[in-house]
Amino acid sequence: MKLKSIEISGFKSFADRTKIEFRDGMTGIVGPNGSGKSNITEAIRWVMGEQSAKSLRGGKMPDIIFAGTEKRKPLARASVTIVFDNADHFLKTNYTEVVVTRRLFRNGDSQYQINHIDCRLKDILNLFIDTGLGRESFSIISQGRVESIFNSKPEDRRSIIEEVAGVLEYKQNKQKAESE
Ligand code: ATP
Ligand code: MG
Repeated sequence: MKLKSIEISGFKSFADRTKIEFRDGMTGIVGPNGSGKSNITEAIRWVMGEQSAKSLRGGKMPDIIFAGTEKRKPLARASVTIVFDNADHFLKTNYTEVVVTRRLFRNGDSQYQINHIDCRLKDILNLFIDTGLGRESFSIISQGRVESIFNSKPEDRRSIIEEVAGVLEYKQNKQKAESE
């Protein structure tokens, strides 16, 4: 499984549609302070199901929509699409290429899609759960996060390790079974 590309439009500082393709090897994104590097990693976390506006440095979720500048009007919608090469079926789906889209409109409406078919947020979260790519995983470490992981409570650190180890899905299924 490999990240192929991400397309960002109306998300934070990315007013114009911006597509980044990830080739083989390592990709570095460089730019001056405030140019939007962290916004790219936040777009990746958001499209993969991030639900906390605070962890995206906002007060409420619509804060991620392009808010406008002196010369440019605010936009009504944020849209992010991420494409994974899934030839090895690392993600548990029959698709060999997985395309995930998330959109948020200023009126609060959301749209979620897997391979261009409407789905629920839950379906996107399920796609990434126990892959080590989930919301609380080590795969995306944002600015300041290393410090916060080291300073976190043991039980919080344990849940991070559990997700990486792949036992979170098992635990959630067990809880569900017990409540039924
Ligand atoms: P650094 O090197 O300091 O970490 P960076 O490249 O990571 O910088 P970001 O934090 O990704 O920069 O980008 C910050 C910029 O994004 C700021 O200029 C901020 O005004 C802009 N920004 C954030 N949210 C929005 C929004 N909703 N609409 C428009 N611009 C936004
Ligand atoms: Mg940054």
